[in-house]
Amino acid sequence: MVKLGTGILTSGPGRIDLNTIGDICRQIAILRERGIEIIVVSSGAIGLGMGILGFKARPRALKKLQACAAVGQSKLIETWQHAFEPYGIVVAQILLTHDDLRHRKRFVAVQGTLEHLLTNGVVPVVNENDTVSSEEIAVGDNDMLSAMVASITSSPLLIILSTAPGLIDREGSGEVIPVVESITGEIAEMAGGTTSSTAIGGMVTKIEAARLAGKSGCNLIIGHGHEKDVLLRAVLEGGVGTVFVASKLPMESKKRWLAFFQRPLGTIQVDEGAREALVHKGRSLLASGVKGCTGEFAARDIVNLAGPGGEVFARGQICFSSREVHQIHGKSSHALRTEFPGRKRLEVVHRNSLVLL
Ligand code: GLU
Repeated sequence: MVKLGTGILTSGPGRIDLNTIGDICRQIAILRERGIEIIVVSSGAIGLGMGILGFKARPRALKKLQACAAVGQSKLIETWQHAFEPYGIVVAQILLTHDDLRHRKRFVAVQGTLEHLLTNGVVPVVNENDTVSSEEIAVGDNDMLSAMVASITSSPLLIILSTAPGLIDREGSGEVIPVVESITGEIAEMAGGTTSSTAIGGMVTKIEAARLAGKSGCNLIIGHGHEKDVLLRAVLEGGVGTVFVASKLPMESKKRWLAFFQRPLGTIQVDEGAREALVHKGRSLLASGVKGCTGEFAARDIVNLAGPGGEVFARGQICFSSREVHQIHGKSSHALRTEFPGRKRLEVVHRNSLVLL
């Protein structure tokens, strides 16, 4: 999979960089000939739309951003289509929001469509569906979106091409770090926000993307999109930018969906004994270990679990509503049985619907 940032695809608001896009298509065509399936996540819709609609700086109002995205996206997909034509490659436009991926049925539908396109030799070109995306339903940035798509398709490699040559060791050598085996606090601190007028990601979201990709068993490379044959070298040779090495023990697909595709509606505070039992003994969460909760949620919604110090350590699908949790916390299962005589399950969060973060 390859994700291309606005900074690489455009040379300023509204100016698409045809040379770069053409060169990326050439490299993708070579990889495809070798039997490597490629998905493109392409930013640039808002940046292009800004130019076409005459904005000099990124507008703040949502409706203006969405108008830019609507205008820019059609230009963007047309550009990809033309650029792939000389190689006889067909492209497909896939526009997603976070909301599409949160619902299991829609998630599975997207997964099926992508698989079908790939087996038919099509190159899917994915972007956020910015025109209908409000804050509540948006992924928000394409670094994260590309990691989500990598996770959905169980891709082995995600290459994020932007104007950053990799993760720079700012405190130390001042050079690009070639390999990151695990994302420590120190690594996360090396990331700083973006300063470009059209882009919104920066290194912070790339590190977050690397975290998600890693837990999905996908290596992630951050490289500069203008380097010669960057894509070919990243896939076939290595030695490009920074490689974030995937976890050797990736989460299974359903747990990934639970951990990374959900927006928790509340937090359950648990005591130390319950935290211990969940983290080290693989137990379910019982009402006796619950201290309280925040947020409003219904039974079957997704919630975070936080330990005594407030640190979130797990996420899961809850069997009680927030109103019920206020009523039952601290109580024994025996007491619950009298309060909810009809219920088969009295665990607050069952261990099969729980993932440690
Ligand atoms: N979806 C946005 C666009 O196409 C880009 C978001 C991003 O680059 O993170 O303009």
